[in-house]
Amino acid sequence: MATTGRDYYEILGVHRSAGEAEIKKAFRQLARELHPDVSEALDADERFKEVVEAYEVLSKSETRQLYDRFGHAGLRSGGFRPTAVDFGSLADIFSAFFGDDVFGVATGARRARGADIAAEVEIELEEAATGITRAVPVQVATRCAACGGDGVEPGTAVSTCEDCGGTGHLQRVTRTGFGDFLRSQACPRCSGTGQIVEHPCKACSGAGRVLEERSLDVEIPPGIHDGQRIRLSGEGHAGALGGQSGDVYVLVHIRPHERLVREGDDVYSTIDLTMTEAALGTKAKVPTLDGELDLEFEPGTQPGAVQVLKGKGMPVLQGFGRGDHRVLVNVAVPRQLTDEQQGLLEQFAETASAETYRPDEGFFEKLKSAFR
Ligand SMILES: [Zn+2]
Ligand SMILES: [Zn+2]
Repeated sequence: MATTGRDYYEILGVHRSAGEAEIKKAFRQLARELHPDVSEALDADERFKEVVEAYEVLSKSETRQLYDRFGHAGLRSGGFRPTAVDFGSLADIFSAFFGDDVFGVATGARRARGADIAAEVEIELEEAATGITRAVPVQVATRCAACGGDGVEPGTAVSTCEDCGGTGHLQRVTRTGFGDFLRSQACPRCSGTGQIVEHPCKACSGAGRVLEERSLDVEIPPGIHDGQRIRLSGEGHAGALGGQSGDVYVLVHIRPHERLVREGDDVYSTIDLTMTEAALGTKAKVPTLDGELDLEFEPGTQPGAVQVLKGKGMPVLQGFGRGDHRVLVNVAVPRQLTDEQQGLLEQFAETASAETYRPDEGFFEKLKSAFR
């Protein structure tokens, strides 16, 4: 389920023949401009997601080839699902994709908690009624197994940063008219770690983290509403250098049902009766969350009549009981009459009087109470 229908090359502003480095560069630049933390534009959020998705596809030869040959449809049939990215800060995005720090200076944030991940699932209304466990694919930055997360190629040494003498901080004196101020800032050369990694880990390019495809089992509780989020604590991106992992937030969408409409915990549907069925009374099958049910309609059932099926609605989320299901009657009036039928109806009309159509006492009261 791609979030954009636009051309990925166009989104990144690169030529179709652009090389890996050029695509990476374009992505970095756009991500810097469009990150919702930075950009004031109202559509920054959407455009940022597009840019991340475009980069996700074009940075991997497998998905790029698929896209080049068959476009968006090719990706869909190839099973591609963009990771719904919600990395938090821009620095986290870059460290997840490239393993570096965008601002060049790492502070105490090097040991920061990992970023959260947003994912989405779409379920049927019936599944929302019963509750369901769904596997949700996510791409998670996990601690690199090869280097244990420190980004250093195993078996190689790390040297002490000469600029800061291994402290990770530089003292700067700022002279002003009011005197000298001493400011401490993270050492730009070693990004505040105090160490220079001469041989970055090959498996993770020194990031200490690698992206891994995972499938998370998400338990969706009965009665969940469209647009609610489920949090999976600690399943998000690994923190840098042993920091705590972030969370995964799964946004649940409920696909609109063909015949049932949900309103809170209640469910509504309509039924079409023919004029004669309504006049003579009938039995009909109506769809409910529990499958089809036989309903009886009395002779003289009026358009707009409502039958209430108590306790056949949606379960109350984290509560007890269920809402109701209300069936609204529509009466179909015949439109294509043969000469014979026309004659019969005219004959009927001649014999009918005001009494034939006299409303049931209390009909309007019943109708009102059905909607209460
Ligand atoms: Zn590594
Ligand atoms: Zn240093």
